[in-house]
Amino acid sequence: MSPEEFRRQGHATIDWIADYWASLDGLPVRAQVAPGDVRGLLPPSAPESPEPFDAVLADLDRVVVPGLTHWQHPRFFAYFPANSSPAAILGDLVSSGIGAQGMIWATSPAVTEVEQVVLDWLAEALGLPEAYRSDGPGGGVIQDTASTATFTALLSALHRASGGAVRRSGVGGTRWRVYGSTQAHSSLVKAAMMAGLGEDAVRTIDVDASTQAMDVDALRDALLEDVEAGLRPVMVHVAAGSTSTGAMDDVAAVAEVVREWGVWVHVDAAWAGVAAVCPEHRGHLAGVEAADSFVTNPHKWLLTTFDCSTFWVRDRAALTGALSILPEYLRNAATESGEVVDYRDWHPQLGRRFRAVKLWAVLRTYGLEGLRAHVRSGVALAARVADLVSADDRWELVTEPSLSLVVFRLRAGDEETMAAMEAVNASGEAYLSHTTVEGRAAIRLAVGSWRTTQADVDRAWAALQDAAAGQGG
Ligand code: PLP
Repeated sequence: MSPEEFRRQGHATIDWIADYWASLDGLPVRAQVAPGDVRGLLPPSAPESPEPFDAVLADLDRVVVPGLTHWQHPRFFAYFPANSSPAAILGDLVSSGIGAQGMIWATSPAVTEVEQVVLDWLAEALGLPEAYRSDGPGGGVIQDTASTATFTALLSALHRASGGAVRRSGVGGTRWRVYGSTQAHSSLVKAAMMAGLGEDAVRTIDVDASTQAMDVDALRDALLEDVEAGLRPVMVHVAAGSTSTGAMDDVAAVAEVVREWGVWVHVDAAWAGVAAVCPEHRGHLAGVEAADSFVTNPHKWLLTTFDCSTFWVRDRAALTGALSILPEYLRNAATESGEVVDYRDWHPQLGRRFRAVKLWAVLRTYGLEGLRAHVRSGVALAARVADLVSADDRWELVTEPSLSLVVFRLRAGDEETMAAMEAVNASGEAYLSHTTVEGRAAIRLAVGSWRTTQADVDRAWAALQDAAAGQGG
């Protein structure tokens, strides 16, 4: 493709994206295809002769769009949002266009330094402790996902607890123990598996039945029992916004309980952390200054195209101690001067792209005011849904709404609840997901798309009412 052709096709591609967004309102939210339908539209082998890029764009409409669940649809309310936004997309495009590989400072200083500054900005905007800033003992880094961040936190915790022995000779015979509530994200167990501890190393702690938050007394009892039995507590996972119901563990209370054993406190605020751009939505992070690490995903609810998971540590020595490695071919004067950060030591992989540019674009073009307005709108629309649920005798809230997440069910029972959700999802009018709370089925409605309005929430609610009527409600 010549530079001029690139320019022409680039414009056509942006037009395609803008047209795709404009079409979303009329498309079913959930993909309507059966397994194999998309494969069946693709040739078995790559073309021998070059094809024009227009052919790829045409196939997006013919092959790809029908097989998509539209995550940027204004009535996508399932799971948690995976926000995109025009500014983030353009930032991501710039990152691809620059095509720099920022594995170490020396391979592109701007990639590292913009990231450091942008994460300092975000830490300040979220009210995170000073210690997390890059000019202190800690610092932030963009990871691909919160799962990787939690894995990285566990490796750092093991490094600190073992005095470096894990790095040198592995987890050995020590019976390490990791804690999280029954509501902790599954990435905690996966992190234990990947770290070589095994899934049984994770001890799950009961939650309060009504709030679904970790029972801190039960955590204390578990620690005492484990220490007595010769196990080594190494990390506790604190859910600041659980996946199922948005439950908030008490960060300060957990940190207080584990303090005497020097356990690493990792706060997983993958979804709810970004809400802290609003001072009135920071309560769930109270005590975060006592945490060793913190993760939140701008790619969930802060308008930043996937992937962008921001991870901070209070003391970067444990993190880089666990992960640093310097082969001869990466030796350079800047690294040896000790004056620069080499991000390859901050995550499992070596290579890394310029993800910071999309977050930079979002922070600058929305401004903190714009980001607050986005979060507040999601919270207000969720409150509206909660009011609608409460006002209808057929339905009930399962837990109190958490920020922009509402969890509810049909009083008639689990089967009816699941059938109503499936009817809405099958209709394509809106897309919701489910969970179980205390053994009973519930529907989750998470607001958060940059394109959702009150009219969209009302349409989803109308579809749920029709579905409830279909269940004899
Ligand atoms: N932690 C929590 C609380 C989550 O809700 C999720 C995903 O929804 C994750 C971790 C995993 O996020 P990621 O997909 O970035 O690994």
